[in-house]
Amino acid sequence: MDSVQSNITLTSLCRALTNGEFFYFYQPIISLGSGIICGAEALIRWKQSNGSIIMPEAFIPPAENTGFIAEMTQELLPGLLNDLLQINAVNPSSFIHLNLSTPDLNRAGLAESLSKQISLMCIEPGRLRVEIVEDVFMPPVPQVEETISRLVSNGIPVVLNDFSAGYTTLNVLSRLPLTAIKLALNIVQMATSSRKDFRILRHLVNMGHQLDLDIIAEGIETDEMYDLTLSTGSTHAQGYYFSHPLPLSDYIALLQKEPHWSNYPFGMEYLTQIDLIDFRRD
Ligand code: C2E
Repeated sequence: MDSVQSNITLTSLCRALTNGEFFYFYQPIISLGSGIICGAEALIRWKQSNGSIIMPEAFIPPAENTGFIAEMTQELLPGLLNDLLQINAVNPSSFIHLNLSTPDLNRAGLAESLSKQISLMCIEPGRLRVEIVEDVFMPPVPQVEETISRLVSNGIPVVLNDFSAGYTTLNVLSRLPLTAIKLALNIVQMATSSRKDFRILRHLVNMGHQLDLDIIAEGIETDEMYDLTLSTGSTHAQGYYFSHPLPLSDYIALLQKEPHWSNYPFGMEYLTQIDLIDFRRD
């Protein structure tokens, strides 16, 4: 991977974009209330002319460092929205999460440009959601917060990815109009290893619930992790247990099969009971 990464330059990224070598895979997001697929995260891949696929960790950092990621996102957006139209033809209510980085959010007019393209393609704004990580707030840039607020006021939900309990994250939670948090993969995966780690996970889910946010548990790989996630009260889940990221045609084929993960979301029920008790007490 390192040797691939060291070969990646702005020139090679530009050439790949011009040659149409970037495209999206889709990884399902499951609603734990219903046990069915309700959306997917778009994960970029670089398919080189020799057929080999380069993963995002090799080319997203140089694309972010050079600011070229903003050009990539803009150029790839019509294709992504076209994919969304095909997905909505099979499942009209499902949504796509698009990852945005600091250079994307730093572009004045990004929210308006996204909304315009969505509306031109007759897509409901909520069908496209934006995923950000807390790094976009370090250092704080007024334009980034402005873009996030504008996205939300234009009806495009914003999800905070890699949620942990760092100071920046808590600060962001109290200020920004987020729709959901995605729990950091290592926090979810560590929760199976000890009671303390499990309690930390539960604590984070409780916090998200108290703030009226959806909570997506990422990195679910096993039965045990799935059961554990159900018990925390997380509202959504994503991970290899349900499906690896898939090319568009395979993702659509999966949607057409209407897979269902039978479950009893007792963690969500537990949190609802607590809400009722709190309501009575108040
Ligand atoms: P992310 O947004 O946190 O995406 C989740 C990553 O975890 C994906 O890696 C996914 O394939 C992987 N994953 C999903 N389920 C599991 C699981 O059960 N176990 C494990 N171990 N891993 C799982 P991927 O596709 O390599 O993407 C890596 C990162 O690259 C993403 O992290 C995101 O930050 C960035 N990225 C991907 N696509 C884009 C894009 O279009 N734009 C931008 N700006 N960043 C992107």
